[in-house]
Amino acid sequence: MAAESLRCRECGEAYSLDAHYVCERCFGPLEVAYAERTISDVGEARRRIQAGPQNIWRYAEFLPIDAPPGPSLRASSRFGLPAGCTPLIKADRLAERLGLREVWVKNDAANPTHSFKDRVVSVASARARELGFDVLACASTGNLANAVAAQAAALGLESYVFIPADLEEQKILATGVYGTNLVKVKGNYDDVNRLCTELSGEKEGWAFVNVNMRPYYAEGSKTIAYEVAEQLGWETPDRVVAPIASGSLFTKIAKGFSEWLELGLCTGGLPAFNGAQAAGCNPVAAAFESGADVCRPVKPDTIAKSLAIGNPADGPYALELARKSGGAIDQVADDEIRAGIRLLAETTGIFTETAGGVTTATLAKLAERGDIGSDERVVLVITGEGLKTLDAVRGTFEAYEIEPSYDAFEAQVGVRA
Ligand SMILES: [Zn+2]
Repeated sequence: MAAESLRCRECGEAYSLDAHYVCERCFGPLEVAYAERTISDVGEARRRIQAGPQNIWRYAEFLPIDAPPGPSLRASSRFGLPAGCTPLIKADRLAERLGLREVWVKNDAANPTHSFKDRVVSVASARARELGFDVLACASTGNLANAVAAQAAALGLESYVFIPADLEEQKILATGVYGTNLVKVKGNYDDVNRLCTELSGEKEGWAFVNVNMRPYYAEGSKTIAYEVAEQLGWETPDRVVAPIASGSLFTKIAKGFSEWLELGLCTGGLPAFNGAQAAGCNPVAAAFESGADVCRPVKPDTIAKSLAIGNPADGPYALELARKSGGAIDQVADDEIRAGIRLLAETTGIFTETAGGVTTATLAKLAERGDIGSDERVVLVITGEGLKTLDAVRGTFEAYEIEPSYDAFEAQVGVRA
């Protein structure tokens, strides 16, 4: 399934597979288009995938690169950080708590820098190297900053990472440690993104993974769908609940399933897609609720900073997907986000960041509303690690503090019968 061109999602105009991201005719976003392909021997194709490496490059034939980074290239530093092949965990206690039949957690916190962003950065940086770029850069709400700084370190590339100045300290520390050029911008993510868009037009040799490399970057999220299908025995789930920031992840997971369904690589139908947003940054959820086709930009004010994109680039496509797949897009308040983090942690042993709290709280809301059928298999996409947003759980539980004696333990803690 070789990538054939970049194509405008609005007018269909085709462009070469270079660092373009916006249509010159209509300013629509560009997306990677692939040559038509059929698979005659599905069993053989599945075996080929299964024999591949334990990372996203097992799906290289479905990604927009000439060749996967690996032994065929000379220097070992060209491997980069291997992303993907994260666990899909059957969450029976969570399902039971919510009165659902079958819930699976796709735990993308298990990636090298603990979020799904390692997938998209892997693809963007692989393509950037093929196109001859020697600097990696990004506009980030946090997780992408971690991923770009680490990937650049692994590849031996220089990097520039732009973040809103008020980002969580954990995410700033976990970015700066890799030796990147860390630029804190006094403004919100949308300000950072505008600055990076301007810079990408000026700085030759710079690959802004989510600006001028965006069409390639976005394709990396399809690998979540491929993995889920493979992990479920080459079947699609009935429903996917995933967070929405720009809307790219949400729509690309659907693209991954669609591609494989068309090729016959997996069975089932396109799942219903439920998007999750924070009430403090809800442009897509608000548009869904009001029946609008476009999103009205908002000024973010939420603890879920990794989802705090007030003007989401793929918002209209996320709306279209939720509607056509029989899903929805919901919003949850900051208190529900904290409760969502606790719910997931207490029932699965997985500690997620605030974005995962948004997603889990949305699943709880859907279950409560009776929107999930009694026979459904649901996949909850957890995109990042709880240690990155520790403030969100501070004060949500109490600990015992005692003198180091048996009596003190018995008096103050005791043993629950
Ligand atoms: Zn166009």
